[in-house]
Amino acid sequence: MLPPPVLEEARETLLALPGVGLSTLALSHRTKVFAGINEGAEADIRALAAIPAHYRVLFLPGGARLQFAMVPMNLLAPAATADYIDTGFWSQLAIKEAAKLGTLNVAATSFEGRPRLPAQGELRLTPGAAYVHITSNNTDSGTEWHTLPEVGAAPLVSDSTSDLFSRPIDISRFGLVYAGAQKNLGPSALSVVIVREDLLARSPEALPSMLSYKTHAEYHSIFNTPPIFGMYLLRLMVKWLVAGGGLPAIARINERKAAQLYAQIDRSSFYEGIAAPDSRSLMNVTFRLTDPHLESRFVATAANEGLHGLAGDPVRGGLRASIYNAVPEEAVDALVQFMREFERTHG
Ligand SMILES: *Cc1c(COP(=O)(O)O)cnc(C)c1O
Repeated sequence: MLPPPVLEEARETLLALPGVGLSTLALSHRTKVFAGINEGAEADIRALAAIPAHYRVLFLPGGARLQFAMVPMNLLAPAATADYIDTGFWSQLAIKEAAKLGTLNVAATSFEGRPRLPAQGELRLTPGAAYVHITSNNTDSGTEWHTLPEVGAAPLVSDSTSDLFSRPIDISRFGLVYAGAQKNLGPSALSVVIVREDLLARSPEALPSMLSYKTHAEYHSIFNTPPIFGMYLLRLMVKWLVAGGGLPAIARINERKAAQLYAQIDRSSFYEGIAAPDSRSLMNVTFRLTDPHLESRFVATAANEGLHGLAGDPVRGGLRASIYNAVPEEAVDALVQFMREFERTHG
């Protein structure tokens, strides 16, 4: 979802940007106006997450899946090993892609049985690993890292596509954080990559330029013609986050939304949470009905009342409420009301 004020501003400027006279779809990346969008988005992101000066913020075309390949292409030298922590669907795809490009060690697998995140003691980390890769929020199982793993000197790399800027983040704990923008930050097919500057030296010279973090950093994300309209929308989303009080403020709202839903799920045995309670995601609330035969009716009845997208992960089944940044508290109130009413009439 995009918040209404963002959509309204995007609609206004689609015809002509005030003072410029050009549509946002017609802007060149060589213009001052676009430089303002690029620099403004970066400056706001730096302020939002207090990003230290020795990190670079890049806006790259292609979604998170391109990062599944770019991370090992840039950071994994032929003789080295990268550790991956497998916590579900997206981490498995990241592993599959990276395995084509170098040597991996799956340091923990924890999605079998009741989905949860591995404890520190379960991690079998490689001494001297090139990096350790995690998926900070798992949309399929509804788990989210609440305490980051200790990985020693290895750079921690996170696919944060489904929770970046949904809560405060301590960037200094990471070597690299990437996120496809479409879940919490606006448009699809655009990624935000935050990378510690010293890691740019690892990008091999032989790498095609478009796949090299070093190239994109040198050119300040305009090595080629970037996804200009997507970056404009991202810029509006980041402005919206800043205007709303920044990451502590959005985190408080996201915590309230999730707490309300989990409380409703835990209230009776009619509903049952899927993820282990200490690993529960604030973005994707996964649950089932104790009587699974009622689930398709739940999804269909909810859709009739304007509550869409409640079917769970296609493989995992069950139900899922995705409550990203732009989902308002009123939508969660409506879902909780619906869940009570459905239990009353079917329980
Ligand atoms: C949605 C999602 C992706 C998919 O990203 P694309 O931009 O479609 O490639 C990857 N990782 C995580 C954690 C996601 O939630």
